[in-house]
Amino acid sequence: MSDTLLLNADAQPVSYLPLSAIQWKEAIMYMYHNKCNVLEWYDDWMVHSAHWETRVPAVIMLKDFVRTKTMVRFSKSNVYLRDQYHCLYCGCDVNRKTATLDHVVPISRGGKTNFENIATACGPCNTRKGNKVGLEWRPRYKPYRPGYWELVRKRKQLPFEVKHPSWYQWLDLASV
Ligand SMILES: [Zn+2]
Repeated sequence: MSDTLLLNADAQPVSYLPLSAIQWKEAIMYMYHNKCNVLEWYDDWMVHSAHWETRVPAVIMLKDFVRTKTMVRFSKSNVYLRDQYHCLYCGCDVNRKTATLDHVVPISRGGKTNFENIATACGPCNTRKGNKVGLEWRPRYKPYRPGYWELVRKRKQLPFEVKHPSWYQWLDLASV
């Protein structure tokens, strides 16, 4: 798990997809190169080399704004996020372990592996559906390519792994 939350110069996380949290060594490189301000420290975590000693930062903010990528690439986790971890056939809740990717038009019938043809499905629905197509296997909505900010909004509704409690105040979860 990562140690230090990385904020952009506007005090927002550099990224939510995934959350911009970095290893302490990388955080200390930002400090060393004077590229960040430290907003929060770990109280009882010191690191040192032969020449220096420092507490580990829990939250750093970049001095210069970095432009972030808002391209949404096709991935399992982005499909699940678009579908908010629901099976698009029966509507049940799934999680990272139980969710599967279903080809709405099966590969054997020329279906592609892309946002427009992939639905989140629970294991039982995926197995029952198999290569079938037809009315009873129509997903609850037509799969689509999600927008970046849509995914950020949906990601904020799910829990984050937080290493230091001070992260919560920087995650901007109220603006969901
Ligand atoms: Zn299902």
